[in-house]
Amino acid sequence: MNNNKHIYCPVCNTDCKKIIKDDIELDECTICKAVWFDPGELSATFEEKINDINDRKLTELICQVCFERLYAYEKVAGKLKIRIHGCEKCRGFWIDRKNIDLMENR
Ligand SMILES: [Zn+2]
Ligand SMILES: [Zn+2]
Repeated sequence: MNNNKHIYCPVCNTDCKKIIKDDIELDECTICKAVWFDPGELSATFEEKINDINDRKLTELICQVCFERLYAYEKVAGKLKIRIHGCEKCRGFWIDRKNIDLMENR
């Protein structure tokens, strides 16, 4: 993991700050509170929740690590619809605040 890289929010185009969650260092947007997960930083519980993706499409958002376009993944679990973004090159994930809350509250 390279801790010196600088992550900008692909939505707000602003600097992210480092946060520590479950002993993992993540990058959180100071405006929209979305979080960038480096490859392998997604916790096991999160990973389990994004298994069996129902839908996947290419978006205009850009990965801040390798500058590839991010995919939007959608998973429907009962009444819950989780939407996250992922880079298929570096395998990092970009998840907005609303969807982080959805995943954490289950
Ligand atoms: Zn943002
Ligand atoms: Zn990437």
